[in-house]
Amino acid sequence: MKDIIDGFLRFQREAFPARAGLFRELANHQAPRALFISCSDSRLVPELVTQREPGDLFVIRNAGNIVPCYGPEPGGVSASVEYAVAALKVSDIVICGHSDCGAMTAIASCACLDHMPAVRHWLRYADSARVVNEARHHPSAAERVQAMVRENVIAQLANLKTHPSVRLALEEGRLTLHGWVYDIESGAIDALDGMTGRFVSLATHPYTSAKPAAHASAA
Ligand code: ZN
Repeated sequence: MKDIIDGFLRFQREAFPARAGLFRELANHQAPRALFISCSDSRLVPELVTQREPGDLFVIRNAGNIVPCYGPEPGGVSASVEYAVAALKVSDIVICGHSDCGAMTAIASCACLDHMPAVRHWLRYADSARVVNEARHHPSAAERVQAMVRENVIAQLANLKTHPSVRLALEEGRLTLHGWVYDIESGAIDALDGMTGRFVSLATHPYTSAKPAAHASAA
């Protein structure tokens, strides 16, 4: 804990003064452009990998970067999605999975989670990804986990679209959805191409999106 408090003291001494103007601007107002939904994993830092400053990203983090389907008893994730889309009017939502994800590894390897009943219950929101992934052949256990991470991003994008605020923003053509997978070792990101259903390198395909703002297909 000492490291954390020492870090705060260094922040007050060095980082905060360097951004004093920014924090003054942000004191009573935020206008983030994007909602970033990622795993709680300590190795994926949304602001670091996207080089964003305070005020730029509205962030939801949880085990497995999961977005429960909208339902009669919406929870914290649903409330945060709604606030980002309906109140802050973000123009983009990124769901970002990552390599070596503990949650996805547990699902892909059918790990016994009896000693973690809350995790077991939470990961049911990835059931559609699990059954699709289980039905496919994978050459190795590692590839099964990698595929599970990708299928989960696809499943959570589908869940996201059950939220009324998201449906409306997509209908009005003011929201773009993105499905990413971050590789911890290389720092690379693969992005879901909604046109082909495949993941491609974001570095070489920087304009890839899971669902473009222009709803041409609905015409
Ligand atoms: Zn994870």
